[in-house]
Amino acid sequence: MTTPLRALLLLSFPFLWSPAMADPPPDPHADARQRMIERHLKGRDISDPHVLRAMATVPRHAFVPADRQGRAYGDHPLPIGHDQTISQPYIVALMTQLAGAKPGHKALDVGTGSGYQAAVLAAIVDHVYSVEIICPLAEDATQRLKRLAIDNVTVDCRDGYQGWPEHAPFDLIVLAAATPRVPQPLLDQLKPGGRLVLPVGDQEQTLIVVTKKADGAYEYARHGGVRFVPMTGEVRGDAKEKAP
Ligand code: SAH
Repeated sequence: MTTPLRALLLLSFPFLWSPAMADPPPDPHADARQRMIERHLKGRDISDPHVLRAMATVPRHAFVPADRQGRAYGDHPLPIGHDQTISQPYIVALMTQLAGAKPGHKALDVGTGSGYQAAVLAAIVDHVYSVEIICPLAEDATQRLKRLAIDNVTVDCRDGYQGWPEHAPFDLIVLAAATPRVPQPLLDQLKPGGRLVLPVGDQEQTLIVVTKKADGAYEYARHGGVRFVPMTGEVRGDAKEKAP
C-alpha cells in the first residue's frame, strides 16, 4: 500500500468506526424476561409464536417506573401513575393471542397506559393506533416509544369509546379497561374477520372476544374472569360537551 493511501485510511478511521457501531451492551433483564416467557406464558396457554417472539423482544422494564424495574418480569400488574396500571404480562400475551395479531395487520389499542401493549402489538403487526384518555400518560408513552425507536405506533389523547374512525377499519382492537357494555363504535370499526378483545363487567369482569363475520354478524366468546381498571369517559355518560 502506498504511504499516502495508508495515511488517508488512518485519517478516515475515526469516521469509519465509532462506539455506536460496537455491539449493544448486554441486557441485564434478558434472563428475567426469558423466565417470564417459560413460566408465565408457555407454562400456561400462550403458544402463538408471534406472541412469544414479541414478548421476548419488548423490554417490559422500560415501561414501568424506574424503582419497579426489578419487578417488571413478575406476573402481576404494576402502578404507572394517575391511578392506572400496566397489565400483567400473561394478560397482555393472552389478549394479543386472542386478537390473532399477524404481520400485515392494522391494530387499535384502547388505553395506551405505559404503551407496553401497543409495543407488543407493534412487534407483530404493521401499525398500531393507540388512544389514551389521560393526556400525560399518552405523552409519556409517546416519548418512551420514541426513545425505544418503536416507530410504528401512533398515540393520541382521546376517549377510546369512539375508537379512531380516521384510521378504521382495523384487523384487531384490544381494550385494556373494563366497560359495562361493548362500545358499538369499536364493533363498527372492525374489518370483516376482525376481532375485538375486551373486559366486560364492573367488579366481576369477563374477557370477551367479538369476531366480525364476513356477513357482518358478530360472534361472542367468553375467556374467563379478569380484573382491569374501569373504562372512563363517554361509556359512563361523561360525554364531552359538543360544540353547538
Ligand atoms: N395497555 C396498558 C394498560 C393500561 S390500563 C399498558 O400496556 O400499560 C388501562 C388504561 O386505559 C389506563 O391508562 C386508562 O387511563 C385508560 N382508559 C380508561 N378509559 C379510557 C377511555 N375511555 N379511552 C381511552 N383510554 C382509557
